[in-house]
Amino acid sequence: MLTLFKNARILSMQDDKIIFGELLVKDERIAFIGEHYQGEKPDKTIDCEGNLLMPGFKNAHAHTAMVFARSASDDLPLHNWLFDCIFPMEEKFKKDDIYHLTKCGILEYISGGITAASDMYFEVPEIVKASEELGIKNVIVATKLSEPIESIRNNYLTLNKKGSLISYMVGIHAEYTTPKERIIDIAKLANELKAPVALHLGETEHEVQGCIDRYGMTPVKFLDSLGLFNYGGVAYHANYFTDEEIKICKEKGIKIVTCPASNAKLASGICPVSKYVENGLTIAVGTDGAGSNNSLDMFKEMYLVSVLQKLSHKDASIMDGFDVLKMATVGSAKVLGLNECDVLKEGKYADIIMIDLKSPSMQPLNNIAKNIVYAGSKDIVKMTMINGKILYFDHKFYIDEDVNEIYKKAQEITNRLRG
Ligand SMILES: [Zn+2]
Repeated sequence: MLTLFKNARILSMQDDKIIFGELLVKDERIAFIGEHYQGEKPDKTIDCEGNLLMPGFKNAHAHTAMVFARSASDDLPLHNWLFDCIFPMEEKFKKDDIYHLTKCGILEYISGGITAASDMYFEVPEIVKASEELGIKNVIVATKLSEPIESIRNNYLTLNKKGSLISYMVGIHAEYTTPKERIIDIAKLANELKAPVALHLGETEHEVQGCIDRYGMTPVKFLDSLGLFNYGGVAYHANYFTDEEIKICKEKGIKIVTCPASNAKLASGICPVSKYVENGLTIAVGTDGAGSNNSLDMFKEMYLVSVLQKLSHKDASIMDGFDVLKMATVGSAKVLGLNECDVLKEGKYADIIMIDLKSPSMQPLNNIAKNIVYAGSKDIVKMTMINGKILYFDHKFYIDEDVNEIYKKAQEITNRLRG
């Protein structure tokens, strides 16, 4: 199957240049980018009318199924939000609830130009099924305390060979929710698999103080002392790292996922992104779950990444808009190990979005990349393509399922969990 996009502006994200030309997709991958394609006749030609093609966003930290808690648990600090609202609702889960709820969240990803997510949640087979059926990439991080280590090892070894849509990372939810013995077992597994470990880390001052009270060390230092990060790590939030911990991140290859909307809404703190960049750490962007965010919107995240740095440093020049766009695409892909869909390039997977430059908020055209970060919203996403398949075009889903049935099922489950 050959799909040709013509009359396109193309921002490959290999650098900040935008070219005007054509892009050919052959089956799952990009086969040509240039001024004019002259090869075999395409099966389908899409006239982009000057709109922009760019790589899809990668949501580097999410709990997709938590759409059930969207606007059902607001205006509380993290500890009360988690222990008093979220955990009691999650206790009522039936087996396939996560499958249906994940599908509902994936629709929001697809309509917002997100071509890959990283889902930290329970019931791995249900997340795999939902992601594969809707055709989105998902890097799954399972953290159920009762799951045997053998099952995590098995998931790691099998899901990372399953195909291009699904991959798997070793993780724990957080230091404060995981007994020390379990952290040691996970560390042993990570060392055996030579794998990085992903977790919520340094999210609140409460968490940091708790770890100091329990173990006499800050969280990164404590977990590193158990050998958890010998093959790297992925730290979600990372609002409160000491200079000593930043040094450990650098030495051990711990990458950062900033989730500014969730942190701001729960008043958890501001991730010092520019300080991490200065220290050479890789930065990705995530939405976290809809229970704390409440939307799954990378445009909102990008805007906040930039303005929160500017505001907290009282320096408007501290964070450049293009660098933030790079974090949400290339940076997130790097953190998630999605190196075959990070940029638009011949041979890479065709995980492409089209930005509607004729949307009022994109006009007139000045600096398109900065326009996306500072004036963009999900409304400007005209198309989402994953592995060469168009899943969304002109505000319509092109999936093998009835969207209203997905919403209906998610509503029924949500009503039961809240009841
Ligand atoms: Zn989270």
